[in-house]
Amino acid sequence: MSQPAPVDLVVLGGGSGGYAAALRAAELGMTVVMVEKDKVGGTCLHRGCIPTKALLHSAETVDVIKEAGQFGVNGSFESVDMPAVNAYKGKVVEGLFKGLTGLVKSRNIEVVQGTGRLVSPTAVEVDGRRIEARHVLLATGSVPRSLPGLDIDGQRVITSDDALGFDRIPSSVIILGAGAIGCEFASVWSSFGADVTIVEALPHLVPLEEESSSKLLERAFRKRGIKQELGARFSKLEHTPNGVLVHLEGGKTLEAELLLVAIGRGPVSEGLGYEQVGVEVERGFVKVDAYCQTSVPTISAVGDLIPTLQLAHVGFAEGILVAERLAGLPVTPVDYDGVPRVTYSHPEVASVGLTTKVATERGYEVIEATYDLAGNGKARILGTAGAVKVVAQKDGPVLGVHMVGDRVGELIAEAQLITNWEALPAEVAQLIHPHPTMSEAVGEAHLALAGKPLHSHS
Ligand SMILES: Cc1cc2nc3c(=O)[nH]c(=O)nc-3n(C[C@H](O)[C@H](O)[C@H](O)COP(=O)(O)OP(=O)(O)OC[C@H]3O[C@@H](n4cnc5c(N)ncnc54)[C@H](O)[C@@H]3O)c2cc1C
Repeated sequence: MSQPAPVDLVVLGGGSGGYAAALRAAELGMTVVMVEKDKVGGTCLHRGCIPTKALLHSAETVDVIKEAGQFGVNGSFESVDMPAVNAYKGKVVEGLFKGLTGLVKSRNIEVVQGTGRLVSPTAVEVDGRRIEARHVLLATGSVPRSLPGLDIDGQRVITSDDALGFDRIPSSVIILGAGAIGCEFASVWSSFGADVTIVEALPHLVPLEEESSSKLLERAFRKRGIKQELGARFSKLEHTPNGVLVHLEGGKTLEAELLLVAIGRGPVSEGLGYEQVGVEVERGFVKVDAYCQTSVPTISAVGDLIPTLQLAHVGFAEGILVAERLAGLPVTPVDYDGVPRVTYSHPEVASVGLTTKVATERGYEVIEATYDLAGNGKARILGTAGAVKVVAQKDGPVLGVHMVGDRVGELIAEAQLITNWEALPAEVAQLIHPHPTMSEAVGEAHLALAGKPLHSHS
């Protein structure tokens, strides 16, 4: 019996990175098969970005009701109906899933349901079916990590996957890890009424952010009653009749109903045939060049599986890059410094470009200006606190923008244009921002940096 002709591209894993590559490749005329063992859309759509942001929106609604009196509106908060919150979250995910499935179908991408395995530089096998292709894309993503001695049971010791399925609000939670995922769950559960403690081994919340942003978030979280154990290392866990007892190095103990482990995510690469076929792997991550090509020329890899920023929009960009490269289009490597990053807590933390510390380490002579949101009309109207900090090269372009405050995630789009187009502070200072909006804070920070502060002290 003759073998079917090889397709142009087989994609292993239908998450953000994989499906973006599949969509773009199909758009460019390639024949594409995408193998997915669960649901197309992956972590971001089903267990990540979208469901967490729906929870955060429910949490924001609670805060708005609780704080209504501050705006002269009488109303009282009754309760959170978790099954109803989950139904709303599920509806959002389901709607987007339907849309994505339709899109994939409309581009004639064949989706093969099942667990795939790399079996040669040009083939993937799924349930006994061998799919031959001119090119293979590995996009198997990541799963939550844990620590030695910390067994995830899904009940008392949980990951974000488990937390998203909870139909009750815990009375108290310890969150291990203060990255974006840890801080977002801290924010949600605190708004929902839980007693929350975050434990972070590094000295700050969101430790990769500009230090001043971390400090602003720490202050805001303290005001909200979210407790923080910073520079504190987990030592061991004990189960108690009502929950968990967490021991920290140094002897301190913390007790709560639940422990959420949010210390990061590890790549899904084991047992999938990658190394047997010659793909170089380091600490589980697939090694790639600047064009997402692995050590085997016919095989590319994208998304959380490779050691770049674990963000959906990075996966999208890498997927598109691979599809365009394989189609023979001219491509530019992803500029990872220029990727916007947002933690969608209350308040939000958003940044793009270099922190002062990294810029200085790279040898830049740095100047910076911080605009306090206290001077911004819209921020006062909304009742949010925070700041916009701009880092620039002395006599040169903007290198980074770092923001804290409600809704600043929406401001990062402008900040990323400024940073990625290497605008000079004086050029941005010329741009008029609409009044009264939060975006004026971006303008004001650049006015200050350009030496002509308006609503701030020089
Ligand atoms: C709680 C949480 C919140 C997040 N919030 C954000 C956010 O707000 N913004 C943001 O940008 N990012 C966010 N992320 C990160 C984002 O979800 C990931 O960066 C993104 O999903 C990575 O895409 P990927 O395609 O590399 O992997 P994944 O989305 O993990 O997709 C991999 C896919 O491969 C499939 N697969 C694995 N092995 C096989 C196999 N052998 N055969 C077939 N299929 C297989 C999996 O089922 C999965 O569908 C969040 C993550 C989490 C956990």
